[in-house]
Order: sequence, then structure tokens, then C-alpha cells
Amino acid sequence: MAIAYIALGSNLGDRVSYIMSAVASLQEKGASVLKQSTIIETDPVGGPPQPKFLNAVVKIETRLSPVELLNQCQGIEKELGRVRDVPSGSRTIDLDILLYDRLVLDTPRLTIPHPRMFERAFVLEPLKEMEPALLEECVHARHKIR
Ligand code: ADP
Ligand code: MG
Repeated sequence: MAIAYIALGSNLGDRVSYIMSAVASLQEKGASVLKQSTIIETDPVGGPPQPKFLNAVVKIETRLSPVELLNQCQGIEKELGRVRDVPSGSRTIDLDILLYDRLVLDTPRLTIPHPRMFERAFVLEPLKEMEPALLEECVHARHKIR
């Protein structure tokens, strides 16, 4: 079993419902949710002008491989009506894999740890709340990664 952390974000429609539905779907698609952070409201970073986000992070336990997990995440985005038109534009739901055990992976489709997680307060804040020691560990590991 692997432990992974997934960031969820929504800034269109019923944002709380989208986040809660996505967490329920993860649970149905082979990821046991061990912990969930509080949901926070944040200003959009990058992209065109757009509404504020709700963000959360979940800790999961799974037998899915990293690519299988990405496939499931993208399936959930599709089911919840995400349309990819403008890069970094508004979305009903976004699921990003932040960490997967201590794996370091850099492929065209999947990069782990998530390349922008360490700059994003909307990821770091929920992660820190949920798992205070984890970030310290990542920061130490990070200079070895990049
Ligand atoms: P973003 O999350 O950066 O706003 P998208 O959700 O549209 O943008 O994702 C763009 C691409 O990022 C996806 O097609 C996916 O293949 C790739 N990607 C690379 N690493 C990851 C990761 N760790 N988690 C989720 N997607 C990733
Ligand atoms: Mg994404």
C-alpha cells in the first residue's frame, strides 16, 4: 500500500459539493481516505481573472500505481464536468497528486512531487495543518530532488 496526498481545488458552481463529491469518488475508485484537511478559500494564482477557489488536501492509502491514480483523478475531473479550455482557467474541480510515498518521478504526463506544490500557499497550508512534520521532511529531501 502507498500513502499519497491529493490537492483538490474548485472555483466554479457549488464548490463545496464538488470537493466533497471528488473525495467520495476517490474512495470508490481505490483510494481510502485517511485524513482530510479543512477547506480554505484562496485567491486564484495565475491564469485569467476568475473567482476565488476552495482548496483542500486529502491523505489517502492506495494500491493504485501513480499513473493509475492520475487516471482516476482525471476520470473524476471529467465526471464532475471539468472542461479544459483556457490554461489555468476556472474549473469545477482539479485533483493534483502532491506526493506518493517518497517517489520522485518526472515524466511528460506525471511529475511527483507536484512541481509547483512548494510555492502554493493553498497547498502548503492544508498540508501543514494535516501533517505538520511532513513538510519539514520534504524541504530536506527537496534539494536532493531538484
Ligand atoms: P493544473 O493542475 O496545473 O492547473 P491541469 O489539471 O490541467 O493543470 O493538469 C495539466 C497536466 O498536468 C495533466 O494533464 C497531467 O498529465 C499533468 N500532471 C503532471 N504532474 C501531475 C501531478 N502530480 N498531478 C496531477 N497532474 C499532473
Ligand atoms: Mg491539475
